[in-house]
Amino acid sequence: MKTIDITGLKLVALRDVQGALAAGASRVLTAENCVVTPSARDFLTQHNIAIDSSGVTRSAAEPPRNGSTSASGAYGSSAPAKARSAANPKLFYTPEAEAIKKEICAVGRKLWMRQFVDGNGGNISYRIGPNEVICTPTLVSKFDLTPEDLSLVDLDGNQVAGVRPRTSEIFLHLEIYKAVPEAKAAVHCHPPHATAYAITGRVPPNLVIPEFEVFIGKVAISPYETPGTTAFAQTVLPFVKDHNTVLLSNHGIVCWADTVTHAEWYAEVLETYCWTLMLASQLGAPISHISEQKGNDLLAIKKKLGLPDVRFDTSKMKECQLSDLEVPGSIALSPRASECAGASPTAADLEKLVKSVTDAVMGAIGAQ
Ligand SMILES: [Zn+2]
Repeated sequence: MKTIDITGLKLVALRDVQGALAAGASRVLTAENCVVTPSARDFLTQHNIAIDSSGVTRSAAEPPRNGSTSASGAYGSSAPAKARSAANPKLFYTPEAEAIKKEICAVGRKLWMRQFVDGNGGNISYRIGPNEVICTPTLVSKFDLTPEDLSLVDLDGNQVAGVRPRTSEIFLHLEIYKAVPEAKAAVHCHPPHATAYAITGRVPPNLVIPEFEVFIGKVAISPYETPGTTAFAQTVLPFVKDHNTVLLSNHGIVCWADTVTHAEWYAEVLETYCWTLMLASQLGAPISHISEQKGNDLLAIKKKLGLPDVRFDTSKMKECQLSDLEVPGSIALSPRASECAGASPTAADLEKLVKSVTDAVMGAIGAQ
């Protein structure tokens, strides 16, 4: 028997018991003095879920008791919805929603396996309706996600279905959905090599690897703000229309796409790109670049795929060269070969350098 603890609720409504059913409850524990709406009572009877009203009222901050699981309203989602929140909780239980939930769980495991998230870090969401977004819960490893762990929220972040409390970083996703109608899915994670760029305030250069140009192109970097706050969520607003991937300063990355799987692909493409650039920087040879002419071919492919790129806007192009090696802050690991012409060290220079190092070492040995 699985008991769901909803003793945090003073009023148990239909959506609360729907959440309990979705979590596989065969019994719900309510607070003694709470009110259960008739539709919630009918729903429980219909689904053979027992109701135990002997519970002691629990505050939202308290964890569920006796190993039972908390339910949606226990953390405040049963608060009256605002005027714009006409979210439909039924969307959380449709066949489409069930497929999306499975996809989110699969993507969560990919993120964890690739070490893009650690602890309970990272979050994933999908906009299933005009005012309905399925998202991951807080405090669950992305490896361990099950469809029952997910939640449904409206565009204001109010939880309308699901047993576990939604991620505290949902507002980042919601700002993207509100700003970019094409965005149907968002993935936020902390991949180490991309995050290394994010903590140095640098963006990777362009025109090095075709796949990166097509799927991501120019990466934006948003300023730091405390995670979970509205201010943090809004840091990406200046960038998300023209960029499907944003580095979050001192934090991680966020990607949006038409599907959850594609948003995760962008995280993979960016992370591998950053990693490859770092490896190449250790080889001691300059990185060669794709020509701007060939780069335009890649941009054409990108346009056909319907992916956003700031370089499509010619007015923005003036400020932003196709190759941004010259832009301050880009990680211009080494200048292009052509830019090195005449600047390469000569054999005489190298000999001089070797001699000065040798002299210094010999001097140090002699001084002992
Ligand atoms: Zn984060």
